[in-house]
Amino acid sequence: MNDRNDAAGLVIGAFSRRMRLKLADHSIVEARIKGKKLRPVCGDRVSVDRIPDETDWLITKIHPRDNELTRPDSRGRKEVLAANLDCIVVMAATEPKPDWFVVDRYLVAAENMSTPAIVVFNKTDLLTGENVLPTAIRDYSTAKYTVIKTSAQTGRNLDQLNKLIAGKTSIVVGQSGVGKSSVINQLIDDGHQLTATLSRKHGEGRHTTVVSIMLELQVGGYVVDSPGVRDYAPAIVSADEVIRGYREINDTGDECRFGNCKHLREPDCAVKQALEYGTISARRYESYKRLMSSIRDRNRNIH
Ligand code: GDP
Ligand code: ZN
Repeated sequence: MNDRNDAAGLVIGAFSRRMRLKLADHSIVEARIKGKKLRPVCGDRVSVDRIPDETDWLITKIHPRDNELTRPDSRGRKEVLAANLDCIVVMAATEPKPDWFVVDRYLVAAENMSTPAIVVFNKTDLLTGENVLPTAIRDYSTAKYTVIKTSAQTGRNLDQLNKLIAGKTSIVVGQSGVGKSSVINQLIDDGHQLTATLSRKHGEGRHTTVVSIMLELQVGGYVVDSPGVRDYAPAIVSADEVIRGYREINDTGDECRFGNCKHLREPDCAVKQALEYGTISARRYESYKRLMSSIRDRNRNIH
C-alpha cells in the first residue's frame, strides 16, 4: 500500500465545496478544500493530502490551468465552469433551425481559449427531400475546422467523433435540442446516463449547489457536463477577441497593410480581398461584423 500522505488528483466532480477526485492510481476519492480561497472546478489538477483517520482527502493546491471555460455570473463576475479542456465540440443540427451566429460565438470562445474545436452537424437522418445540408456547414471546413456529420439516431459517424475525442477532456455545446445529450449518452460508459447524473443537483432556493461532473468516455477521456455548461452562453468579448475568434479572418489579417487592421473599412485589407476571391465566406464575415458592432454598441452604452 502507498503510505504517502500527499498525491496528485484530477477533479472529476464539483459539488459546491465538495469535490470528487481521481488520483494517480486511478482510485476515486472525495475531498474537501483547504481554506476559502481555492476554487477548484472540473478538469483541475490538484495536490491533495490525506486527512488522518478520515476517508476524505484535502485539496491543498490547484495547479496552473492551461485554459478556463468561463461565463459571467449574475453579478457580472467571471465564473469558471471547467478547466484544462482539450476540445470543444460545437453542435448544430437539422432541427431546431440552426443559428449559425451562436455556433460562431462558441468558436470565438474556443479560439480565445486556444482550445481546438470540432463542429458537429447532428440529425443528418432528417436530411431528406427539402432538408439539404446547410451551405453554412461548408464555411467551417473552409475555415479549416473539422466538421463531422452525425446522427445519434442511426449512429452515423459517432465512431469518427469518438476517435477525435479519445483520451481528451471535451465539452459539447450548442443550442438546446440539437442532440447533445443523445450523442453524449452513446459515447460515455454505461451507467453514466446524463439525466441520471444531473439529478444529483441538491439543495434548494438560492443556495442550490451547482453540480459539475466529468463523465468517462468508452474510448478513454472525459466529457464535462453541468447545468452551467449546458446553458453556457459565451460572454460578450472585446474587439481583439473577435478578431482572434474568427480563425480564417485572423490568419488572413497578417497580410493587411495595417497591423491593427479591423478588416472593416481600412485600405488594402487582405480580408476584403479574400472575400472577393471567396476564400473567406461572406456569411462568416457578416457574422464577424455583427459581433464587432454588438461590441461597439455595448461600449457606446457604457460611456
Ligand atoms: P440537447 O438539448 O442538445 O441535449 O438535445 P437532446 O439530446 O435532448 O435531443 C433533443 C431531441 O432530438 C430528442 O427528442 C432526441 O431524441 C432527438 N434527437 C437527438 N439526436 C437525434 C438524431 O440524430 N436524429 C433525430 N431524428 N433525432 C435526434
Ligand atoms: Zn484587414
